[in-house]
Amino acid sequence: MNRLIVRLTGAVQGVGFRPFVYRIAMELGLNGYVLNDTHGVIVEVEGNDKSLESFVLKLNTEKPPLARIFSQDLSYRESAGYKSFEIKESKGDGSKDVLILPDISICDDCLNELFDISDRRYLYPFINCINCGPRFTIIENLPYDRDNTTMKDFVMCPDCLREYKDPLNRRFHAQPNACPVCGPSVSLYNNRGSLIADGEDALHILIDEIKKGSIAAIKGIGGFHLVCDAENEDAVTLLRKRKRRQEKPFAVMFHSIEGVKGYAFLSTIEEALLISPERPIVLVSRKNSKLAKSVAPELNKIGAFLPYAPLHHIILRKLNIPLVATSGNISDEPIVKDDKEALQRLSLFSDFILIHNRPIRRRCDDSVVKIIGGFPSLVRRARGYAPTHVRLPFNLKKRALAVGGFYKNTFAIGLNDKVIMSQHIGDLETVDAIEYFEEAVRDICSLYDFKPDVIVHDLHPGYETTKWALAQTGIEKIGVQHHFAHILSCMAENGIEGNVLGVAWDGTGYGNDGTLWGGEFLHCDYKDYKRISHFKQLRLIGGEKAIREPRRVAIAMLFEIFGEDSLSLDIPVVKSFGKKELHILFNAWRNGINSPYSSSAGRLFDGLASFLDIRHVNNYEGQAAMMIEDRYDFNIKDSYDFTIKDGVIDWTTIFLSVLNDKRKDRIPSMFINTLAEIILHIAKSAGLQRVCLSGGVFQNDPLTQRVIELLSPDFRVFAHKRIPPNDGCICIGQAVFAGNK
Ligand code: ZN
Ligand code: ZN
Ligand code: FE
Repeated sequence: MNRLIVRLTGAVQGVGFRPFVYRIAMELGLNGYVLNDTHGVIVEVEGNDKSLESFVLKLNTEKPPLARIFSQDLSYRESAGYKSFEIKESKGDGSKDVLILPDISICDDCLNELFDISDRRYLYPFINCINCGPRFTIIENLPYDRDNTTMKDFVMCPDCLREYKDPLNRRFHAQPNACPVCGPSVSLYNNRGSLIADGEDALHILIDEIKKGSIAAIKGIGGFHLVCDAENEDAVTLLRKRKRRQEKPFAVMFHSIEGVKGYAFLSTIEEALLISPERPIVLVSRKNSKLAKSVAPELNKIGAFLPYAPLHHIILRKLNIPLVATSGNISDEPIVKDDKEALQRLSLFSDFILIHNRPIRRRCDDSVVKIIGGFPSLVRRARGYAPTHVRLPFNLKKRALAVGGFYKNTFAIGLNDKVIMSQHIGDLETVDAIEYFEEAVRDICSLYDFKPDVIVHDLHPGYETTKWALAQTGIEKIGVQHHFAHILSCMAENGIEGNVLGVAWDGTGYGNDGTLWGGEFLHCDYKDYKRISHFKQLRLIGGEKAIREPRRVAIAMLFEIFGEDSLSLDIPVVKSFGKKELHILFNAWRNGINSPYSSSAGRLFDGLASFLDIRHVNNYEGQAAMMIEDRYDFNIKDSYDFTIKDGVIDWTTIFLSVLNDKRKDRIPSMFINTLAEIILHIAKSAGLQRVCLSGGVFQNDPLTQRVIELLSPDFRVFAHKRIPPNDGCICIGQAVFAGNK
């Protein structure tokens, strides 16, 4: 008789792990106990060696579907004489590094019950079980127990309690377990704050109103959505007008995967992503359909997703039409999550507001996935994925709090061999957004009981995150160059050790010489980088304004190529400015007035869009570049000539060809192919076998595809998959750098 002690870490809490252990212990006739603590799960079992061996085997081969074991520590002791097998109460002390699960969409079992008229949870919007439901957004503290969630105030009815206590039930220790008798419920309000109806009546009225063209705010898992009939042009236009969001595409929620297929072409992988338990928004190619034009003006792609909360399923099934479902927020501010805030703020945009009384502990936007270079790639990482971590090929020497960048902010905490990344926080452009960042940092640090040894930030002195980091006292602080952080995050995500050629192309980032970078080739290891090549700098006339107006980039390019002669050129970009304005711009350019230098690759896409008369002023970030991407033709393999001198890539050579190319249709493809050829050329001369791509420019699928095509098999190309290529990945690189010092 021997006693086996097993310590497991990983995603082992809130996934039905303890009942599973109970079941296999019963099967093998073993006594002992199983217990959750703040690191994971502890099991002690006693029996003969043969049955203990079978126990370990079953533990690994028969584990519940959502469980992930990252480490398993086995030790043997003398028998303690256990008389039975018990599931013990959780222990809540010590440091907290257990994995918190993300919010998981409703499972098939619950979905069947939801629409089964004989089930006691028929049409109950908060049905869940151990295999599905909210996690990250309802947890207040660890360990993950009902008392530590926003469900703590709901007292389970006898039926729910029986399920919760039965190790063989699917709802055993399903912390958000609830039913119509004891659980949360919905209420519908109008935009003047008056209660219209509760429960089922609320849903009936809401559904009728949406059919009639009303706009509604609906509370979901990580915040509110604003929704309306996606086929009703008037409703969508009204939503745009109210939200003051002119052209930025809206996501569309479809009632089923078959539903999506009527509106979009789906590859096998896209279909798999749409139905995955994470339920992200997937960017897919649209078909000609009844979808309102204003859902995604002038774009070939739409953001499609499927219902993930039972509440969505009930509404979508009844409606049987696709719904615009966009984040419930005021332009760039954080998504609204609280009922009171929704009734105040979202009543400006919506006719009706559907709330419910299960509080959302922390905001979490919908995640967005796009197929890039043949692989699913998260471009916004939030619900369904946060707070899962990135595992490193080494141990960090220091516990690092990495505050990330400014745009598409995320932050991270790094400890041991993992970096836990926050949910998408967003652009830190408003007071509310900055507050959200600060609140989220406090939240994640306290949730994991995390006390950093070092705070890591960007070099940009103007970033809110840098300012916040520098304001913290009594702790070491380290700054990491933006594009180096991009490449470090790509290396870490892909588990690379040794030297790489990093290609960091984005819109903007602060260089170590005080100019704006963004078209960089860096020779990197985990300790240091060397800038070996970059695009020739161009002036951003008007600074920030040039980032919003591609035509300002184009005109600066013309000034660079033709000097003052550009003023009399008879082309659309020149004509988009007034005579007087042109002279002011030229003077600003010549004298460098509010016209910082930038080597950004992203800006080259802007300039091109303006030359092609596709887009002169961006309505939202990245619009011009997306429109260029849409015009790529995979049959065109040609490219333009380019010149590189002393590591500086001269874009004037490329743009002279562009301006002289009579075959306008092929220009976007030729341009993108040229960028890929440049990467090949520099990879050859750098003599490094591994090439890491990072930065928002690599959200461009044809570019990434073409790079992989050209560089394989001589080089190994690594891109982002689980973390965004855009500035949403900066925090990972920062944490890795500081933890390696
Ligand atoms: Zn379920
Ligand atoms: Zn109940
Ligand atoms: Fe960047």
